[in-house]
Amino acid sequence: MYTNFQKYLQQELTQIEADGLYKNERIIESAQGAEIMVKGKKCLNFCANNYLGLADNPELIEAAKEGMDMRGFGMASVRFICGCQDLHKKLEAKISEFFGTEDTILYAACFDANGGVFEPLLGQDDAIISDSLNHASIIDGVRLCKAQRFRYANADMADLEKQLQDAQKCRFRLIVTDGVFSMDGNVCPLDKIYELAQKYDAMVMVDESHSAGVVGKTGRGVTERYNLRGKVEILTGTLGKAFGGAMGGFTTGRKEIIDMLRQRSRPYLFSNSMAPGLVAAGIRMFEMMTETNELQDKLHANTDYFIKQMLAAGFDCKPSESAICAVMLYDAPLSQKFAAKMQEEGIFVTGFYYPVVPKGQARIRVQISAAHEKEHLDKCIAAFVKIGKELGVIK
Ligand SMILES: *Cc1c(COP(=O)(O)O)cnc(C)c1O
Repeated sequence: MYTNFQKYLQQELTQIEADGLYKNERIIESAQGAEIMVKGKKCLNFCANNYLGLADNPELIEAAKEGMDMRGFGMASVRFICGCQDLHKKLEAKISEFFGTEDTILYAACFDANGGVFEPLLGQDDAIISDSLNHASIIDGVRLCKAQRFRYANADMADLEKQLQDAQKCRFRLIVTDGVFSMDGNVCPLDKIYELAQKYDAMVMVDESHSAGVVGKTGRGVTERYNLRGKVEILTGTLGKAFGGAMGGFTTGRKEIIDMLRQRSRPYLFSNSMAPGLVAAGIRMFEMMTETNELQDKLHANTDYFIKQMLAAGFDCKPSESAICAVMLYDAPLSQKFAAKMQEEGIFVTGFYYPVVPKGQARIRVQISAAHEKEHLDKCIAAFVKIGKELGVIK
């Protein structure tokens, strides 16, 4: 049996490679940070979701160690059997406090939070109205749910209104959107989404994975940015990006919604509880967020500086309110070549092209971090300018 299947896989893999879509992993020989070691060489990292630079933070490492000393290595249980320690409840309370929400439920990852949020809440009489650029985990979560599906073009409020009109016949309506879209770095227009939700009697869910810790003056995410703290029914997010970059996901929002998820959400009921070390570090991380706004301030200053310098150098950058900067090249082979040359200069950035972004919209995505010092940013910009000139992108 395997002989035929093996042949089939080999052909598929060869095709993936021929299409230029084969993913090779870069092996890092250091902690995650602004500077990383790859093949014994020091490189600058501009493609991690390590927005606040906490991935190698000594205080968090210490908190994780203490958590393990106090509460052990693993839980060996799902939450409702014997997988809930005082630490888990404390972290959930910290997350609710951070977002100004009523209650929070933890998952192993945000992928699970999104996978387990729709099916327990909505049924075939209901409507989910989803942004066309929403994250894969939202798409998968929606697939697992019997609710009717409506889709609107990215951040297109006229289209959202049309979909809401079509969905008026349904019992309940839920609009779902990413907070920040990871390819362009644009923030969802939550003010307008909220207005339309009021007008057409819909609930709102925002996935804050790329926005939490980043967007808003104090990094409370898009609900802070639009002055809508506590107004949105459901928020999901990850501890795997700005919040330390380890692992863990959550859904936070209205009390009854979270309670229902504790009863019926399958990744919560049938998957292991978060490890004590990660939970303890998560608690410390949220304490740090309330003590100081230094990291957010530095991240915002870094992002402004980087985009300003790149525009001045003649690059075409998408406007961004996040830590994601899309440097537009439009041409797929050019974006691949550009990213490879950046790597030769010791700068890690990612080239994105079709099918990850629309045809003719190829780009280099740069992710800025509070871990970057000015000299790191300047080195990155200098490499962009050098290669941009070499490849005729700028003059
Ligand atoms: C990264 C990401 C996720 C997945 O988060 P994990 O905790 O790594 O599973 C979900 N949604 C969005 C929008 C993301 O960017």
